[in-house]
Amino acid sequence: MRMKDQVALVTGGGSGLGKAIVERFVKEGARVAILDRSPERIEEVVSAHQGAVVGVAGDVRSMDDNKNAVAECVKAFGKLDTLIGNAGVWDYNATLASADDDRISDAINELIGINLNGYILAAKAALPELYKSKGNAIFTVSNAGLYPGGGGVIYTAAKHGVIGMIKQMAHEWAPHIRVNGVAPGGIGGSNLAGLASLSQENNSFSDLPLDDLMKQILPLEKAFYADEYAGAYVFFADRNDNGPATGAVLNFDGGIGMRGF
Ligand code: NAD
Repeated sequence: MRMKDQVALVTGGGSGLGKAIVERFVKEGARVAILDRSPERIEEVVSAHQGAVVGVAGDVRSMDDNKNAVAECVKAFGKLDTLIGNAGVWDYNATLASADDDRISDAINELIGINLNGYILAAKAALPELYKSKGNAIFTVSNAGLYPGGGGVIYTAAKHGVIGMIKQMAHEWAPHIRVNGVAPGGIGGSNLAGLASLSQENNSFSDLPLDDLMKQILPLEKAFYADEYAGAYVFFADRNDNGPATGAVLNFDGGIGMRGF
């Protein structure tokens, strides 16, 4: 029960990694609010954790929706200790060569709007409560925040941007609030949504042989699943363990960069 009496807000907590983080935090004694654009997914998670989870349907690109999520979290649980910015979409490795000229701006705006701007807006909305609780923020990065090949140029640029955001936010919010990142590698069994602006609504992550790919390319030679990534968030959120950590980004990717030749 490392998170007893702690309260977290997780964006994109309705599915995949975010859902696994919610489940792990509840298991560790926390109460959790979710902001997600899918009311159905929220309902599923909330009903699985009656009393410990509240959900708010909204879009992370909206300042009002982020403020509403923080307000509902505080209304339900009295405070906010940890913000977890996690909601994201993928570009399905879209190359610049393949993207039409008349769609590229919309694609950039959609992906960066969710994956980077959405984190900044959530942080802005959460700041007053995190300041009160002397809490912390954790953001989901990706192997694509550190290396090429985890997405197209747009996704990789957004995830590199998240690392810059984490560092500047840690600098700006010290000494009151710590800000860190977790950079997971591929998540077996996940189904990250594509970009509507590139007509990727029907793309399915599950069509990719991701599990097999991970076994082939990772030095650890296995696929990793969402629940295996959730402990890193507990580490950064646990007030007893994370004292010195701010501006840190944990490579948590099965050693993608450690393969060598
Ligand atoms: P997922 O699609 O399973 O979950 C993402 C959740 O975010 C969904 O519930 C979705 O409804 C929500 N969401 C998407 N856009 C939103 C918006 N505009 N407003 C509110 N909610 C929105 O994806 P996942 O695989 O769990 O990915 C979570 C995070 O992990 C993302 O930041 C992603 O970039 C990162 N990541 C994923 C992988 C992977 O292999 N899936 C690898 C590295 C990093």
